[in-house]
Amino acid sequence: MRKVSCEIIKDMLPLYYDSVCSDDSKRMVEEHLSECNNCKVEFKKIQDEIHIPEKSIIENRTDSNVIKISLLRGKDYG
Ligand SMILES: [Zn+2]
Repeated sequence: MRKVSCEIIKDMLPLYYDSVCSDDSKRMVEEHLSECNNCKVEFKKIQDEIHIPEKSIIENRTDSNVIKISLLRGKDYG
């Protein structure tokens, strides 16, 4: 029996983590987590890296920083 879709739970997980959702929503998330391993993994990810939602953006920034640094180093040492 599927009451709530994983998509909804994934939307709810950050709220659940911050405890800003209603008691009903909390129970809904907890019930879903108890029987859905995928969402358990998602919740663990949130616990591990909360406030870092877009990993790709950070990686892109790091890439451009690396390019800048290597350019600067090229000037310094060249
Ligand atoms: Zn799920």
